[in-house]
Amino acid sequence: MKFDKSLSFARDLDRQDPLRSFRSRFYFPLLGKKKALYFCGNSLGLEPKNTLGILKEELEDWSKLGVEAHFHARRPWMHYHKFSKNALARLTGAKPSEVVAMNQLTVNLHLMMTSFYRPDSQRFRIIVEAGAFSSDQYAFESQIRLHHLEPENALVEIYPRSGEQTLRMEDILTAIRQHGEHLSLVIFPGVQYYSGQRFNIGAIAEAAHAVGAYAGFDLAHAVGNVPLTLHKDNADFAVWCSYKYLNAGPGAVAGAFVHERHAHRQDLQRLAGWWGYEEKDRFLMRKGFRPATGVDGWQLSNFPVFSGAPLMASLKHFDEAGMPALRRKSVRLTGYLEFLLKEINKQHDYFSIITPADPDERGCQLSLLMKRNGKKIFDRMTKGGVIADWREPDVIRLSPVPLYNSFEDIFRLAAIMAEVSADS
Ligand SMILES: *Cc1c(COP(=O)(O)O)cnc(C)c1O
Repeated sequence: MKFDKSLSFARDLDRQDPLRSFRSRFYFPLLGKKKALYFCGNSLGLEPKNTLGILKEELEDWSKLGVEAHFHARRPWMHYHKFSKNALARLTGAKPSEVVAMNQLTVNLHLMMTSFYRPDSQRFRIIVEAGAFSSDQYAFESQIRLHHLEPENALVEIYPRSGEQTLRMEDILTAIRQHGEHLSLVIFPGVQYYSGQRFNIGAIAEAAHAVGAYAGFDLAHAVGNVPLTLHKDNADFAVWCSYKYLNAGPGAVAGAFVHERHAHRQDLQRLAGWWGYEEKDRFLMRKGFRPATGVDGWQLSNFPVFSGAPLMASLKHFDEAGMPALRRKSVRLTGYLEFLLKEINKQHDYFSIITPADPDERGCQLSLLMKRNGKKIFDRMTKGGVIADWREPDVIRLSPVPLYNSFEDIFRLAAIMAEVSADS
């Protein structure tokens, strides 16, 4: 689509936007006395207005029913992990039996690595992207050490080519082939947190499987942001958090996917807990763990209702809007942001956009590598009413979110950036 830099054009796009009414379902934080221009949904999604209602219902059921709420609450707590399955399956392109809400992202990454990283003297390497999110790096290192191996030998990090900011698919596939018989596991993000680059999950899984390795995915920045087809793509496992694009609130219950073909495997070692036990006999409290089939068999503890209730509230909006419509709007929003950023950069070279220019290779986020005075520009943007995200040493991340950002938001953001960049 051809963009125009006038305010009236932005307003026209908002009028034509079939999802425009969703914006009023969210609270926008204040900066000073003004509603902030919020572009930080990649870090913490905004609070849906229906969150409080569902939390109140759970509190009420607790006060009225006590322990009986496990069976007689509006949403019986015993079964709470099941209530989000259909919506999570739609978001991730999975079967309901392949997804479950549980724990936190890093915990789930450890649980999955415990099962899918079983190194031996021949096959012990893990391929990951260089510069992975810190928590993931610590999980990789510590899992490797748990098996008495050294990250220097076992962890293979793939770097961009010199002078480039993002990875080439061919380089990822070549590395997988090269490490072939020594490769145990490939772990990639769906969307990389720093660069905003989106990866082809199906192609990575296929290459990993071709050499006899597993493929797992960290979808922290992908779920609720880009369409996913985990089942068809044959991912072995995936993990995600729910407080970024899923808007379930700080520390909300996270999620995990295990492909159906592993659903009945008894040979996969795991860290077990009672909530992962075969459901019908869970309360017999017997010795000897027998896993439930599917991803449910990786659960440890009973469900955190107060961090899962907001997820239920938020998933309603995703179901109503639908991922295809959200993605259509997202491609347009981000394309419009990119257009206005390039206008700002026309006269002066303030930054370069390191996120891939091809919409298929990115989600909603654009990452700007600032050429000079980056932090100063960022601080002035904040003073001007923008909530965005600064990553050391010199990157500003901007994420227009199709559920609650408007084209006019982007117009205003760009106007503020043009002004503060010129003075910095
Ligand atoms: C946000 C994020 C995390 C955070 O981990 P938690 O366990 O939720 O604290 C981890 N990895 C990636 C890639 C992330 O983007």
